[in-house]
Amino acid sequence: MLNKQQTQEAIAIMGEMFPDAHGELIHENSFQLLIAVILSAQATDVSVNKATPALFAAYPDPTALAQAPLDDIIAKIKTIGLYRNKAKNIKACAEKLLREFGGKVPHTREELMSLPGVGRKTANVVLGDAFKIPAIAVDTHVERVSKRLRICKQKASVLEVEETLMKKLPQDSWVTAHHRMIFFGRYHCLARSPKCEGCPLLFMCKDGQIRLGIKAT
Ligand code: SF4
Repeated sequence: MLNKQQTQEAIAIMGEMFPDAHGELIHENSFQLLIAVILSAQATDVSVNKATPALFAAYPDPTALAQAPLDDIIAKIKTIGLYRNKAKNIKACAEKLLREFGGKVPHTREELMSLPGVGRKTANVVLGDAFKIPAIAVDTHVERVSKRLRICKQKASVLEVEETLMKKLPQDSWVTAHHRMIFFGRYHCLARSPKCEGCPLLFMCKDGQIRLGIKAT
């Protein structure tokens, strides 16, 4: 397992590879980010970014989205996976924002997670990217990269991955580290074909060394 220092070194190297790592969902404010992140569950950011410009042009704020006909929301997001459920969730989310939060996106994980369609990962993305509140959102890339690099245990749950990363990284680096890990996983340490050959992290990556036959399993 990588210790604290090695984990921080790995994140620093990812930062050299992807100095501009950032959230890729198009949005103009915290409300639009919240909706985009809900839509991105089990879908790619690219597919969400294709649909949201028309959605946000028609329904730019909670009031407009809460009043929108469900069929029209469905029509605007139907290129995104699980669109029927997501359409219901984002409309219900806008309604709850108006009803309970004065139309504003709340700033705590607990309040965010009380919104329809919002789980811990979505809440963490919004905390970090909309409000600069330290949080690590563990998506498929963060989980895979953490496990391949042996930052956490192979059998760790998503919550355990998040807790391990929080222990091994300084709090003020959480949001940046999360973006670096996503870029690293999305563009380099890919799920099916990681670019192990020439990977700057190969020296500390047992998984990569096994893949390249440098180390026995
Ligand atoms: Fe990923 Fe391979 Fe690099 Fe390890 S060596 S971090 S598995 S790309």
